[in-house]
This record gives sequence, C-alpha cells and structure tokens, in this order.
Amino acid sequence: MFNQKTAWITGASSGIGEALAVELARQGARLVLSARRETELQRVAKATGLPADAVLVLPLDVTDAADLAEKVQTVLARFGRVDYVFQNAGITQRSLVQDTDPVVYRRLMDVNFFGAVALTQAVLPQLLTQKSGHFVVTSSVAGKIGVKQRSGYCASKHALHGFFDSLRAEVANEGLRVTIVCPGYIRTPISSSALSASGEVYGKSDRAQEQGMPADECARRILKAVAAGREEIYVGGREIWGIYL
Ligand code: NDP
Repeated sequence: MFNQKTAWITGASSGIGEALAVELARQGARLVLSARRETELQRVAKATGLPADAVLVLPLDVTDAADLAEKVQTVLARFGRVDYVFQNAGITQRSLVQDTDPVVYRRLMDVNFFGAVALTQAVLPQLLTQKSGHFVVTSSVAGKIGVKQRSGYCASKHALHGFFDSLRAEVANEGLRVTIVCPGYIRTPISSSALSASGEVYGKSDRAQEQGMPADECARRILKAVAAGREEIYVGGREIWGIYL
C-alpha cells in the first residue's frame, strides 16, 4: 500500500509523527519529514533507516502559511509527487476557561487548525492535478467531545472535522481521500509542552499520558485504517475517558 509512495508528515520530530515515519519507512514509503526542530527531524530520519535519497528533512512552521507553497515545490523537486499528507503537527493546553488568556486560544487555533488548512491549500492543487492523494489528519477524541482544561484544544480539533469533512465531500470525485484520526491518550511528550493559562509552557508531564497507548502501536493502527480507506477512526484511550475503542 505505502511501498514507493511519498508520504509527507508534519509533527514528524516527535511522538505519533515520529512513529508514523518509522512505520511508513518499514512499509517502503519515501518520506518528507516536517516540524520546526531540524535536529530532531535528522534524528528521526536516521531512525527510519532509509537511504538519503528516500527521505527529505524539511523543517517548517505550519503557522507560516506564506512559506508552504515554496515547501511544496521543494517536495516536488525531490519526489515528483505527494501521495499521503499526514497533517499531524499539534500542541495542547492545560487551563480553565476562566483563566485562559485569549492569546492561548489564538495559538491553539493557529497551529492545530489554521496550520492544517494552510498546508492543505498549498498542496491541494498538486493532488488535484495528480487525481490522487490522501490527507490523513490527526484530530483527537477531544475533537468529538469537550474535556476539562482543554477548551481551546477541543475547539481546534472540532474545527478540523468541519473543515476536512467538507473537503472530503468536495474532492470525493477527484480521486482524493481524507481520513480523520481521533486518538485517545497516546504515550508521547505532548503534555510536557502544553500551554498554561498565560501561554507559557506548562512543563509537567501527565500521568494519564504516560499510561497511554505506545506511539508505535498507534501508528500501526492508523496506517491499517488508512490502507482500508476508513474515513474516521478512534485509537487508544479507552480506559481514560470511558468511551468507545
Ligand atoms: P508531540 O508533542 O510528541 O508532537 C507534536 C509535533 O508537532 C512535534 O513534532 C512538533 O515539532 C510539531 N509541532 C508543534 N508545533 C508546530 C508548528 N508550529 N509547526 C510545525 N510543527 C509543529 O505530540 P503527539 O505526537 O502526541 O501529537 C501529535 C498529534 O497528535 C497532535 O496533533 C496532537 O494533538 C494529536 N493527539 C495526541 C494525543 C496524545 O495523547 N498524545 C491524543 C490525541 C491527539 P516541533 O516542536 O519540532 O515543531
């Protein structure tokens, strides 16, 4: 399924994105690895075991929409096409509504929602020209329900569903697909970089996070669902929120 395909992953420097990179490489894909931290991307590129000509380290900030069109050209110059776009970059928060600085809400929407919108708009013309391509979007269980101290995070993830469900309807007859992934707790460093009410990094790891599903298992389940053409999937977290999975 992924053999010889080009997969572009945002948030590839850590956690679920890193695990997707390793698993996609194992299944024969060529990779474009994006996030802000280039050294971490280089580390992940090495961990995939891919030869240099099969992996492109492409640092970017998803909030820099103006830069993304150029990044698409860099990918096309290397691989000629894009088969999968894993829109996975994201940040979270820990703060009550009554305490939260509006700047925190803007930041969560800028990274989690507008970042994915911007990359979609940058790469969509190429996918329409190819008449094939698959967007895989990392939402969250928090994209389907409300969660205490995650109001902005939940809002940004709910917004992804509205946008990508609409995109799916628009491109269904153009050979393009959209899969939305809703993870529960997955064992990654995300909670240690969560934003506090004032927008500082909260800096504490979260016990529930530490007990979540391992990221490599999450990545395998995501790829299985993508290969099966699923439109929406849930993975991990059953024990914590007491719902589905
Ligand atoms: P990590 O913190 O391990 O990974 C987040 C990734 O996003 C990092 O690679 C980070 O890289 C990147 N990133 C953050 N901001 C930006 C930015 N402005 N531009 C580009 N890249 C950025 O967390 P996870 O692996 O857990 O998170 C991955 C996705 O999974 C997120 O969308 C998250 O919301 C979602 N998710 C995670 C769950 C979990 O329990 N872990 C549960 C549900 C959903 P860098 O800092 O180098 O830019």
